[in-house]
Amino acid sequence: MANYPEKVYLNGEILDAQEAKISVFDRGFLFGDGIYEVMLRIKGSFFYGAEHLQRLAKCLEKINIEFDVSCLPNTIDLLLKASNLELQDCLLYIQVTRGVAPRKHSFPNSTVPTLMLYAMPFVLPELNDKPISVVTTRDFRWHRCDIKMTSLLGNVMANDVAIKAGHYETVFYRDGKVTEASHSNIFFVKDSTVYTHPANEHILNGITREIVIELCHKNDIAVKEKAVWREDIVKMDEAFLTGTSTQIASIQKIDDHYFYQGSAPGLVTQKLQKLFLQLKNSYECEKLI
Ligand code: PMP
Repeated sequence: MANYPEKVYLNGEILDAQEAKISVFDRGFLFGDGIYEVMLRIKGSFFYGAEHLQRLAKCLEKINIEFDVSCLPNTIDLLLKASNLELQDCLLYIQVTRGVAPRKHSFPNSTVPTLMLYAMPFVLPELNDKPISVVTTRDFRWHRCDIKMTSLLGNVMANDVAIKAGHYETVFYRDGKVTEASHSNIFFVKDSTVYTHPANEHILNGITREIVIELCHKNDIAVKEKAVWREDIVKMDEAFLTGTSTQIASIQKIDDHYFYQGSAPGLVTQKLQKLFLQLKNSYECEKLI
């Protein structure tokens, strides 16, 4: 099965992927009632793995799924061994749903959460140096985009529009302000100051977004967590997307507006891409959580 993982961890067992089955009454299946995480293992450690697990724990708490993430490092070790990925760069997917219960909207009194993980080989390019083009659309999602939930229909629908039209991403705006993109956060640069939407309920606070803000602070790059008006996009000097697998991707074109021609992104974007690469190369994580 190309593009599928070989092994899946499901509720205490490591199975061949095609053997991993869940109940049709799982609330993850019926309602998208679950939380997920994606992180990358680079040269033997999970890049900001502790932060990813903390976000998972926080999101589970936000939707009242009782699940202790401290069991995960052990499970992840077992999965990596079974998948023969201990020594390879790979992507780890984790999903926790509320579990199985008769179909009813209200939260069931006591269910055992469904836990599913898989890992597959995944090698990041050193730098994401492809200039990308994106389109904008009204943010038609709900008002709790801070929750990394499995019900991604709004994001999926928006992303599909971009992909079908040959673009990399769809960027959302809400009440006239640019929020984020369908699977990444967005930053702008104006007069050497970096801007991104504040981490509130209208965006997912990306781990990469947080890393970029920290890189700005540590390297004397002015940064403001302040949303940019959609109508002001054309006045910006640079724009880029961030995400775990996107890393820092320079936006060349947004709708009909070009930030630059040719292949070289703006100077601030280039600087942050280099700083991000240095961080990756020097990163060592002691413990996953
Ligand atoms: N926003 C959305 C909607 C996302 O799905 C993602 C994750 N792909 C991000 C932002 C970026 O988050 P991270 O940097 O943690 O991957």
